[in-house]
Amino acid sequence: MTRVLVPSPQKIGRWLETVERTWLGWSLPPARRVIADARWQPDDPQRYCGLCGVSVGRDEVTPRGCASCRGTSPATDRLIRLGPYGDPLGEWVKAIKYRQWDQMGRELGRRLGKSISAALAGTAGGGGDAYVVVPMPMPWQRRLYRGIDHARVIAGGVAAELGAPLLALLARANGPPQVSLRATQRSRNAGRMRRKRLAHLLPLDGHTVILVDDVRTSGASLEAAAKLIRRLGVARVVAGVLAVADPVLGPRSAGRVFRAS
Ligand SMILES: [Zn+2]
Repeated sequence: MTRVLVPSPQKIGRWLETVERTWLGWSLPPARRVIADARWQPDDPQRYCGLCGVSVGRDEVTPRGCASCRGTSPATDRLIRLGPYGDPLGEWVKAIKYRQWDQMGRELGRRLGKSISAALAGTAGGGGDAYVVVPMPMPWQRRLYRGIDHARVIAGGVAAELGAPLLALLARANGPPQVSLRATQRSRNAGRMRRKRLAHLLPLDGHTVILVDDVRTSGASLEAAAKLIRRLGVARVVAGVLAVADPVLGPRSAGRVFRAS
């Protein structure tokens, strides 16, 4: 009689982990385990401003925004985040970008998709079939030397969770990364973005576009992208980001500094 040895699920799990590490040359552990070990949970929407995403205390936010954004008219209708730019989320975001941890990018993207789905459920245009997920664009030169288009990886997770199409509608000319610039230089640099020609061919009327990025710092890039998307006749533009950098100085001080290097 021939005995067939069936490995236990635990053994298969360990084996898959080894394959992942050795074949793909990673020393990074599985993203889900890292998230579980850190006992990390996404933010409750009460903890941040639904317009600009900065952390707020109780009663510090109104439907017209918080002290950081009240009086401005952002091109995004809403912002949904997973958390503030601090540990452990900030460390994971850096590892996605600089260590090409695409597994973590996709996993956090899925969790962001869950938060978006919960936040938009019951709101106008909240039906999943009306969503389109658009990653914030990265210059191709940067994608080449980084080895990852992090916003696209995260957006892939969001799209999978929402069951929505992922459309790269925007492109960006090469220039310095936003995190390397002072707040006053960011708007000018954000202007290096453009819509791709194919964007005009798509019937996006009435759709909710989810603009996905890893971190919101000054918000200049998201603002520039949302303005370009708005001209396509969409119903609304919602920003979905993993983390938001809170202003270090007072919310109304000139030349605000953000923690997101
Ligand atoms: Zn705000």
